[in-house]
This record gives sequence, C-alpha cells and structure tokens, in this order.
Amino acid sequence: MRRVYLDYSATTPVDERVFEAMKPYYTEMFGNANSLHCFGREGATAVDTSRRKIAALLDVKPTEIYFTSGGTEGDNWALKGVASAYRNKGRRIIVSSVEHAAMIASAKQLESDGFDVVFLPVDGGGRVLPEFLEKVITDDTVLVSVMTANNEIGTVQPIKELAEIAHKHGAYFHTDAVQAVGAIPIDIRGWNVDMLTFSAHKFYGPKGIGALFIKSGIKPSKIITGGHQERSMRGGTTNVPAVVGMAAALELALDNLEENSVRIGKLRDYFVEEIEKKVPYAIYNGDRVHRVPQNANFAFEFIEGESLLLRLDMVGIACSSGSACSSGSLDPSHVLLATGLPVEKAHGSIRFSFGKYTTKEDIDYVIENVVKAVENLRSISPLFSEFKGDKHYV
Ligand code: PLP
Repeated sequence: MRRVYLDYSATTPVDERVFEAMKPYYTEMFGNANSLHCFGREGATAVDTSRRKIAALLDVKPTEIYFTSGGTEGDNWALKGVASAYRNKGRRIIVSSVEHAAMIASAKQLESDGFDVVFLPVDGGGRVLPEFLEKVITDDTVLVSVMTANNEIGTVQPIKELAEIAHKHGAYFHTDAVQAVGAIPIDIRGWNVDMLTFSAHKFYGPKGIGALFIKSGIKPSKIITGGHQERSMRGGTTNVPAVVGMAAALELALDNLEENSVRIGKLRDYFVEEIEKKVPYAIYNGDRVHRVPQNANFAFEFIEGESLLLRLDMVGIACSSGSACSSGSLDPSHVLLATGLPVEKAHGSIRFSFGKYTTKEDIDYVIENVVKAVENLRSISPLFSEFKGDKHYV
C-alpha cells in the first residue's frame, strides 16, 4: 500500500546527511564534552563548533545559544525562568491563547503560583493583533510570549510589532519559533526578540534537542539544575551527536529555505484549492495570508476529525487531528476555539502538514482519498442527514 506522510508539523525524518554527520559522535568520538581528556575535548570541540555554526546561521552570538532537550524545555525555561528571575519587577505575564501546550501549561502553572497571567485573544485567522496586546499590557508586565507560527493552523504572528510593544512597557519578549525555523526566514535581531525557542526535529534534525536563544544581559533562573554545562545555566551531560545533528540540519534547512518553501507552498495551495473545489462544507482554518507554507487545516462539517484520520490511516495517509501533543485528548483544539470556531466544527478538523519529501503524486492520492472518506463518513452521519432534511433522522 502507498504510504503518504503529511504530518511534518509533528516531526520530520532525519535527513541522511544529518545522520551521517552525527554517527561518529556515537561510536568513535563519544567522550563526555565536560571531560578534560582528549576524548572529552573531541566532544567539546564538536559542541563549540556546532554552537558557532548555529549562532552564525541565526546571526546571533554563540554565547546567546543554550542547548536544551527541545521545544518544550525551551518554552518552559523562557517562561518560568524569566517569571522567577524578574518577579520583583512585576507579576503580569502575557501569552497568546493559541500557544503550544508547553507554553499554555507553563503559564497555567505560573497562574496557580500567584502570577497574573493574561491569555491574549486572536482574530478569526488566529492572529494576535498588536492592539490586543496594547489593551492588556501594563508597566508591571514581566514577559510577553507569542509564538512565531502556530503548530495547528500555521498562522504567522506580527512578532516585530509585538516585541516593540512589550519593550515600550519594559517587558521581555519571547517567541516559540519551533514551527517557523526552517519554514520561513527568522530575523532575531530585526524582530528584536529577547528569547526564541527552536527544536531540531521540526527541520529534519534529531528529536530531543533544541535551543533557547537568550539575548546577552538577560538571566532567566535555571530550571534544570545540576552540573555546570551551558555556562552553568543548564545542567546535564551534553548530547553531543544531537547538537552536531541540529547544526547540520539547520545549515541544510536555511541553505534550501527559499527553494523548499516555494515548492511546498505551491503544493499546499494546490491541495487547498482542490479540497475547496471537491469537498463541500470544508472550512479552511487559519489566516490565508500570514501563514507558513507547510500547513493546511480544514474543518470538515458533519463528521469527526478522528474518524477521518482513521479512514485515511487505513489507506496509508498520515495526518493529524489537532496537534500531536494533544492527541489522545478528546477535547476540541484550544487553538480552533480561540479563533471562534464552534466546538462541533473544531471536532471535525484535520491538519495536513507537508514537507520536503512530499510530491504532487502524494497530494493527488490524498485529495482522492479525502474526497472519498468524507463522502463516506457523511453518508453515515446523522448530523449530515439531519442537515439535508432526511425524514427518518429528524
Ligand atoms: N512549540 C511548538 C509550536 C511545537 O509545535 C512543538 C512541537 O510540536 C513544541 C513547542 C514542542 O517541541 P518539542 O517536541 O521539541 O518538545
């Protein structure tokens, strides 16, 4: 059976070239980067070279890059670390209502610890408009955090404008760029953000490694205490092969950014057009202008997203209802609800996310099967029968 992977926003395969770069650090150059002997020095050199490479690619200083275990840790650290280190400045923390669970859960934890947490609303496309932030920001706001691109609907936020408002009020600005790095150009200096999270497994690097950019001069509290790794800011033996892999993956992703994003964006646009043409009552979720190229999220009315997902899985198609992190939960997506989508339509939503190995043939196969599966599920949907006015269901 044909298999089509359309869940690149959940994770990407490791690029072969990245894997090759990592291999020697598992077997030959396996030393602990903190050890003083020659084995350790090999590891330390690899970490140092990778840090410099990543910093140069993002146009920041190597000392501003802190390796983490991924996006979740970076988000937790930025939020909890700044709230704790600067608690004497104020108690207000502002995050958008469409953040990833890593941020929402951290914000809720801070709320239960007595912080004054405000969840920013979004417009119908999932955008945080600058005026929404202006309305709630106060001079005792410590941190504002708004993601660069959303993981469910792909909406891209006006980061530069939001950071400027935060700074006007003396607050720090963090952005979760996990879905954006490798998908759209990242301009840390131009946007003037204070902290930025990214994670290698979203751009064809290994899982379990990421980094938090922390602008010089900002000192969030540590959340992982232990040894003196990461300039005493984060304990734990450095995952040398993963760090090497992330640097290699970032280099490849940025070298091919324009080419990949144009190609992927065209495939996505074709997919969206065909679905809108061929499937009635399909609602496109998200902003049609400010969006990453790899995402298309649809609510298919009168059916359950999970049922569609399982039907597609039966024909080898992998996509997602909600985000991978909330799978297993039957709650409707907080992102879709925040955009104003009613609960029943949020339940019928599916995310298709495309990547560098997606082909036009893949897309045609998926379109054909989505059309069939939606038709089939609607043929047995009491909601659809009721909508059409079929007597026996009324
Ligand atoms: N933030 C966003 C926007 C994400 O999409 C994800 C992963 O899906 C994360 C954070 C968590 O990253 P990680 O899986 O590296 O912990």
